[in-house]
Amino acid sequence: MKFNNQSRKECINMTYQFSTRVPASDEDPVGNILKVAGSPDIISFAGGLPAPELFPVDALKKVTNEVYDESGRQALQYSAAIGDPALRTQIVKRMAKQGVDTTIDNVMISTGSQQSIDLTAKMFINPGDTVIVEKPTYLCALDVFRSYGAHIVGVEMDEDGMKMDDLEKAVAENPNTKFIYTIPNFQNPTGRTMSAERRRRMIQIVDQYDIMILEDDPYGAIRFAGDDIAPIKFYDDQDRVIYLSTFSKILAPGLRLGWIVAEQSLMKKFTLMKQSADVHSDNLTQHIVARFMAEYDIDDHINKIKRVYRKRENVMMTAIEADFPKGVNYSHPEGGLFIWVEVPGNIDTQELFNTCIKHNVAFVPGEPFYPDAVTPGTFRLNFSNMSEEQIKTGIKRLGSAIKETISE
Ligand code: PMP
Repeated sequence: MKFNNQSRKECINMTYQFSTRVPASDEDPVGNILKVAGSPDIISFAGGLPAPELFPVDALKKVTNEVYDESGRQALQYSAAIGDPALRTQIVKRMAKQGVDTTIDNVMISTGSQQSIDLTAKMFINPGDTVIVEKPTYLCALDVFRSYGAHIVGVEMDEDGMKMDDLEKAVAENPNTKFIYTIPNFQNPTGRTMSAERRRRMIQIVDQYDIMILEDDPYGAIRFAGDDIAPIKFYDDQDRVIYLSTFSKILAPGLRLGWIVAEQSLMKKFTLMKQSADVHSDNLTQHIVARFMAEYDIDDHINKIKRVYRKRENVMMTAIEADFPKGVNYSHPEGGLFIWVEVPGNIDTQELFNTCIKHNVAFVPGEPFYPDAVTPGTFRLNFSNMSEEQIKTGIKRLGSAIKETISE
């Protein structure tokens, strides 16, 4: 039989009736930036990519073969939405090292923290509900909150994270606040870390105003300087904190595995939401990661990552000090993947980006990270994905581009 619907195709001019969740515009400014930044001549500090040379490919290959040999049929079968018990047991041990006492019934495996953010938003946000965020914050979380119709309120930060007086004011002014979304460690995009004192104060605020915290912690394990600070979840004695983390930065993002730690009645809801989202996260991958964690010391692996990132961050800091014009401010992260830069004066960051592209270097302009009014002259630099030589050359180019833009 021959199928031919060519004539029909020519007549179709469909207007799709999308839901309010779908963005009205097809524009993808960040996607475009990453596309331009991805060209081979450009030294890109734009993406948030881990260093691929550190992925434990051989070890993962070995444990993958073992999983196929020893439990292939089980690993390839459907499984429970909450996730593989062996992997959840490993996560309970990791959480204990951070001072968070939990059980496998309080841990659900997700398809990365991005899904955890989406499921939490779906669970709590009705159109018009307020979500309070750091200003600036992770842009893909903003996209999720917007898609559920949230009213997003940004709170200013300083070197110690969100300013607590401003936070309390925002909560008091928005009685329909559902939760505060925070990235307390080496925040994306600023690289800043919330102090222990502010973490305790945040808990007091949510207890007082009867709201929740969504603590997103993909970077906390990558601390290469200074002392560890306990997660906000550690201070939570009223079960108001939903804690998220992920294997993306400590193992490999392509695995698409993250986890949620929350109180058990919330877990029941998460499990139902997860079931309707994607049934369960990839069962084979869960088996592989659980086995990797049983056979290898993941902290040894994380220490390797820290050593490389510390070196790269130091090289970037030294280069910035030498090559950026005086008066440019930047954060001094003690971990994670990002440095945040603020160029004084009302400079147009998009124009600076265009000049940088001519100099074959790239960053992500600050604009998409702001929920509302944008601070001009801000941008994010990533230091995990380029070699030390590329960092030196790239920062020199960036310094020249900033000088050129300022003098115009
Ligand atoms: N939260 C933050 C703050 C992030 O920076 C990222 C990714 N870079 C995510 C969540 C999503 O991570 P995942 O790969 O686990 O989905």
